[in-house]
Amino acid sequence: MMKKQYDYVLVGGGLFAGTFAYFATKKGKKCLVIEKRNKLGGNLYCEDVEGIHVHKYGAHIFHTSNRKVWDFVNSLVEFNRYTNSPVANYKGEIYNMPFNMNTFSKMWGVATPKEAKAIIDEQKSAIKGEPKNLEEQAISLVGEDIYRKLIKGYTEKQWGRDCKDLPSFIIKRLPVRYTYDNNYFNDLYQGIPIGGYNVLIEALFDGCDVKLNTDYNQDRETYNALGQKVIYTGALDALYDFCYGPLEYRSLRFESEVLDEENYQGVAVVNYTDRETPYTRVIEHKHFEFGTQTKTVITREYPAEWEEGMEYYYPVNDEKNQELYQKYRKKADEEEKILLGGRLAEYKYYDMDKVIESAFQLVEKELQ
Ligand SMILES: Cc1cc2nc3c(=O)[nH]c(=O)nc-3n(C[C@H](O)[C@H](O)[C@H](O)COP(=O)(O)OP(=O)(O)OC[C@H]3O[C@@H](n4cnc5c(N)ncnc54)[C@H](O)[C@@H]3O)c2cc1C
Repeated sequence: MMKKQYDYVLVGGGLFAGTFAYFATKKGKKCLVIEKRNKLGGNLYCEDVEGIHVHKYGAHIFHTSNRKVWDFVNSLVEFNRYTNSPVANYKGEIYNMPFNMNTFSKMWGVATPKEAKAIIDEQKSAIKGEPKNLEEQAISLVGEDIYRKLIKGYTEKQWGRDCKDLPSFIIKRLPVRYTYDNNYFNDLYQGIPIGGYNVLIEALFDGCDVKLNTDYNQDRETYNALGQKVIYTGALDALYDFCYGPLEYRSLRFESEVLDEENYQGVAVVNYTDRETPYTRVIEHKHFEFGTQTKTVITREYPAEWEEGMEYYYPVNDEKNQELYQKYRKKADEEEKILLGGRLAEYKYYDMDKVIESAFQLVEKELQ
């Protein structure tokens, strides 16, 4: 067989393809990246507005307990000391998240874990037997007050339905901390790349040829002919022209605004936990990087039903969609030349560190 122009054609310019591209290039392989957007980065891409890195596809905080992943990303760009400590705004009352002693102290005026636990246990006991719906499930885990002020409205906005009409299995666990610890993540390492995620992305794709504004699925044969192998990180149903029907997603809608003030909310993430405020979160991007710009950029996040043409955010993990995915997957597993990877091709919610771990596995298989 004639040697092709490229060793790998990478479909998609996100974190999965970037991690693979980095190691392939290091090994002397030639990669071509085909990206349908007008920029690389996938969900991590940040837009520069007023000198602030605006997370265009949702707020991204890097966190991991995997030392190998942490060392890898830090070898490409230094990370800052950002620690995610969101707050909840319930009708103007501010509470720390995740639920911890700071939250309980504000809610009930208690000072010790014993006092907080006594209140929660007493409220939890209102639910007898198996919880019949999400409301009962949440109360049985954290009690009435936390449920009413911090869970109910937020969850109802997210799902577009009353908590009494939602099944209990949606919430399996609600972490409660009896310590004064506002750090949202339990992972060993977290932070934001200094200079923004685009610095990381540039380092990952360094040395690759890149074709932007190009949808691989519009002309698969041409692009396949350019490479020995194809690594596909796009949506799996699109690869087969939706022949079994479309996989469903949940989406989000973002509304961003530049404000002529230095500091709007004092923290990167505020959750609005009442039902009446139509958005679920407000992100103030500069706080991810301790920005000192004179203006600020905020983004309101609204839950949205996915419709044709919208971004794919969260896969719907129900039986119907999983079965459909498996049908497509079976087809894909028969391909000799096309390998799959990343959140879209695997139809899976993947945090960034997990995507990198998964790309490491492909590197191991393909490049060793
Ligand atoms: C709202 C939101 C918030 C998140 N926040 C966090 C967080 O705080 N921390 C964290 O660790 N993770 C977070 N994640 C997860 C993170 O976004 C993913 O782990 C990561 O983006 C996955 O990288 P990927 O390469 O698999 O996919 P993507 O980033 O989606 O990249 C795939 C790329 O392929 C391109 N593409 C698709 N189809 C084609 C085609 N046919 N032709 C050409 N190009 C194509 C797309 O345009 C895209 O650029 C969040 C995800 C969402 C949805």
